[in-house]
Amino acid sequence: MTSYKELGLVNTRKMFAKAVKGGYAIPAFNFNTMEQMQAIVQAAVETKSPVIMQVSKGARKYANPTILRYMAQGAVEYAKELGCKKPQIVLHLDHGDSFETCKSCIDSGFSSVMIDGSSLPYADNVKLTKKVVAYAHKYDVTVEAELGVLAGVEDEVASEVSHYTKPEEVIDFVTKTGCDSLAISIGTSHGAYKFKPEQCTRDPKTGKLVPPPLAFDVLKAIEKKLPGFPIVLHGSSSVPQDEVDTINKFGGKLPDAVGIPESQLRKAAKSAVCKINIDSDSRLAMTAAIRQHFAEHPDHFDPRQYLTPARDNMKKMYIHKIMKVLGSNEKL
Ligand SMILES: [Zn+2]
Repeated sequence: MTSYKELGLVNTRKMFAKAVKGGYAIPAFNFNTMEQMQAIVQAAVETKSPVIMQVSKGARKYANPTILRYMAQGAVEYAKELGCKKPQIVLHLDHGDSFETCKSCIDSGFSSVMIDGSSLPYADNVKLTKKVVAYAHKYDVTVEAELGVLAGVEDEVASEVSHYTKPEEVIDFVTKTGCDSLAISIGTSHGAYKFKPEQCTRDPKTGKLVPPPLAFDVLKAIEKKLPGFPIVLHGSSSVPQDEVDTINKFGGKLPDAVGIPESQLRKAAKSAVCKINIDSDSRLAMTAAIRQHFAEHPDHFDPRQYLTPARDNMKKMYIHKIMKVLGSNEKL
């Protein structure tokens, strides 16, 4: 058993309480590779922002759970080396699918886990979440739960249709489970193709898809039921169209990739939403930089040559999100 406290990581409790009060949100960036980890830490240190580094099931499969845990430990030390005296870094399991997965993460040094029982019948979601909370809280690990279903594809989490969170269920759910934060469904969606063209309108000038707005009425109703309780938004990449254009210009094929407009995320961050998950935008920033690099330097074959601009582009994106969308800069 390794406690996250020995690794210099923190859980989300104080961080979320401060964020809810302060009207900003903590960035939750997924990571799979060393370059992503470096870019996340550099961005967080430069902006003096707390940060959640999260690991999906796919990331655990791709990179190996032990390696990811040591990378998070390395992230803390790296942040200190970059001049941050007291980094606030959370290592979070994204979409934990069973009690066993959550337990193995808690035992190996994660400071926060999500148990996603959102596809289960309500009573089973309550039962599973409660079991994870009971175990996690013994070790002061915080737990995110989910009510409502997001559409889209994220690693192995996939759903055709979304079901908005029912505000009338949230008090009962939070009380019965004791979870520390709640992921809700108000129209965000996983992946780089968040909406089908028929769900959107089209900008007559650019021909780009304009996604439907988030259900702020549902968010408001939930906030009213749970004043001050930390709310989480998944599937909140904005799918920057300049990155999509770069990818398509240099040989990629991502027609009609569309995300959540940053103005809507900014509005959500000012409310009880205190954690915003961003994964696809980092993938797009990395891919755009690599495609452009190869197009301009067909003779390059040293990974450092194309991963350096990829890392720089991700860092730029992370800094932009922290400063212009989440508002978590200068909040250490
Ligand atoms: Zn998610």
